Amino acid sequence: MSACPFCGIAASRAAAPIFAEDGETLAFADLTPQAPLHALGIPKRHIEHFGSLKARDGELLGRLAQTAQRVAEQAGLGTRGDRVVCKIGPDAGNSVAHLHLACSVAGNSPGQRARRRAPTSLVAGSVTTSP
Ligand SMILES: [Zn+2]
Repeated sequence: MSACPFCGIAASRAAAPIFAEDGETLAFADLTPQAPLHALGIPKRHIEHFGSLKARDGELLGRLAQTAQRVAEQAGLGTRGDRVVCKIGPDAGNSVAHLHLACSVAGNSPGQRARRRAPTSLVAGSVTTSP
């Protein structure tokens, strides 16, 4: 395979704090976080981007969404301004061509800034997912 950094993490050739893992997906801390909590959920199998998904990948996409959801729930993130983003290509700000969902705390209101300091409940390895 390529020098894809996310494939390296999925294959344990590169280190990253792991938040959640199942047989087909993995969530880990972004190594260049843009927020106090910035986790990335990936399929372990290399899929370049959202547009590369095939019809047979529907179950995998559901598992990926569940993994991202569990990380967000464990971190205490909710529905008040946190975000899950899937970028496609460099013009969207995506720097790694491996499908991923980025989960982070969003916003700059005073309440959101206070909450950005709050998600301390998420500790690498503390989230479990079903196989
Ligand atoms: Zn990859």
